[in-house]
Amino acid sequence: MNTTTIPDELNYAEHEGLKRAQGELERVQGEAARATAELNRVTAELAQAKEAAETANLAKSAFLANTSHEIRTPLNAIIGMTHLLLRSGVNDDQAQRLDKIETAGQHLLEILNAVLDLSKIEAGKLSLERTRVAVNGVVHNVVSMLHDRAVAKALVISEEVAQGLAPLLGDPTRLQQALLNFGSNAVKFTGQGGRVCFRTRVMEDTPTDQLVRFEVEDTGIGIPADKLGQIFSAFEQADSSTTREYGGTGLGLAITRKLAQLMGGSAGVSSEPGVGSTFWFTARLAKGDYMPITGLLPDPDAAESIIGERFAGLR
Ligand code: ADP
Repeated sequence: MNTTTIPDELNYAEHEGLKRAQGELERVQGEAARATAELNRVTAELAQAKEAAETANLAKSAFLANTSHEIRTPLNAIIGMTHLLLRSGVNDDQAQRLDKIETAGQHLLEILNAVLDLSKIEAGKLSLERTRVAVNGVVHNVVSMLHDRAVAKALVISEEVAQGLAPLLGDPTRLQQALLNFGSNAVKFTGQGGRVCFRTRVMEDTPTDQLVRFEVEDTGIGIPADKLGQIFSAFEQADSSTTREYGGTGLGLAITRKLAQLMGGSAGVSSEPGVGSTFWFTARLAKGDYMPITGLLPDPDAAESIIGERFAGLR
């Protein structure tokens, strides 16, 4: 603590004044020290609370991932058995009821898969593949998958492919899933005779990677400006009546954004009600040729010895 030496030659009043000032200084310094200690205590408490919340969130995601995984097995049995019963010669009434069970089962399975994906990503358990990606092939696959639904609504689907793509590595299945979420929505929310256009573009080209943008533009119902900020959150829909009219879980966009972020990119949308929407996401894909899987797989003997070590004594 700072102290001030009072020179002898000062008169009494000055002396007293200085003493008071010194006392005041010490009081203020004491208060500052107490405030700093309090600040440190609150900061430590906040850090602890944040860590506890993060741990709880991770536990929640892991629980959701495990539960949805466990529910899938019996659900698959229900759907499979219903399907077999339908084919085993039932009357019309029974067939109608079994159809309803099958449709409801499929819908439930769709929701479970979406919850499983989302919670896996949130729990940091989703690992991406790293294999050769044919970017325009991914788009083409998605367009083929949507073909029947588009024809049923007389929609025109077009593709504008990226130029200057290098041989790239990434996870084609997850890219396809992310794009299919946009594509299915575009087909779902675009009326009879509308248009849906898929575009890919190289946004950045570095010596090691390319940032690729995937875009789906539609001439559908569009989204009001005040809803644009929330539709990428889980379980959010622009209009709660859309579930009744169009079905859906409200999870597709959240999954696409998370996947894009996992791939070093981001996702967004621009839209005008009554005119249409453009949904996009980007992914940073490493330059490189196909990496053969050989050598990545553990050899069977090694796998056996690892299992023997870790699960010794268990059946
Ligand atoms: P879902 O489609 O299963 O409801 P999503 O997360 O994929 O869930 O979409 C969330 C919401 O965003 C949709 O319910 C809809 O309100 C809105 N939306 C998504 N894509 C479009 C689109 N192409 N046109 C209009 N609205 C859309």
